[in-house]
Amino acid sequence: MHAIEITSEPAVAGDRNTVGGWPILESKQSWPDCSCGKRMVLFFQLDVPDDIADFGGEHLLVFQCPVHNEACFGPAQLPELYWEKPTSDYEMAHWRILRHRGGVVVESADAFLQPRRLLLRDAGPDDKWAFRVGGKPAWIQDAEVYTCACGAGLEFLAQIPENLGFPKRPEVPEQDGAFSEDEYGLLLGNMTYLLACPNHCDPAAAWPVNQH
Ligand SMILES: [Zn+2]
Ligand SMILES: [Zn+2]
Repeated sequence: MHAIEITSEPAVAGDRNTVGGWPILESKQSWPDCSCGKRMVLFFQLDVPDDIADFGGEHLLVFQCPVHNEACFGPAQLPELYWEKPTSDYEMAHWRILRHRGGVVVESADAFLQPRRLLLRDAGPDDKWAFRVGGKPAWIQDAEVYTCACGAGLEFLAQIPENLGFPKRPEVPEQDGAFSEDEYGLLLGNMTYLLACPNHCDPAAAWPVNQH
């Protein structure tokens, strides 16, 4: 597994491991919108290291609405198109996780977060609570299991610690429900376990499990 560090180094167009910045998409993909119509914030993107089972070599992007900020909950058997249909009482499809092997650099940068480079390094057992990709989930409550709409069991891809802050641009508003005046957080700051479909049935077939 690999720990992920948010550095103070500005990211530039073409960088593949970033907070904010210029998304790298597949040629047919467009920048995802929330169901409220707003273009989502690019929280981070990275190349999944080759030694990560099931997902090595993919490019991972994690987006969330700039306005809608809520935890994600859903049934163990996820329904068709679970990434673009509300699955809980919240009634918003406010996050999107994409994986692909393409390489189109979008021309404009994310407008909300400061573009920063991410640094990946080999991680050991002490890093189990770190922002990381690969390894096994470090559950803070009971382990959770989800099945993709395609029938495959979702596999663990990455872990995002509680209240991990992503530095916002000074000119944009504070995030609703934020834990910080100058940072945005994902899914209301809950611990997030990113699970994804090992069958790659869709570039968006991934699910964030929240615990706190
Ligand atoms: Zn929204
Ligand atoms: Zn699937």
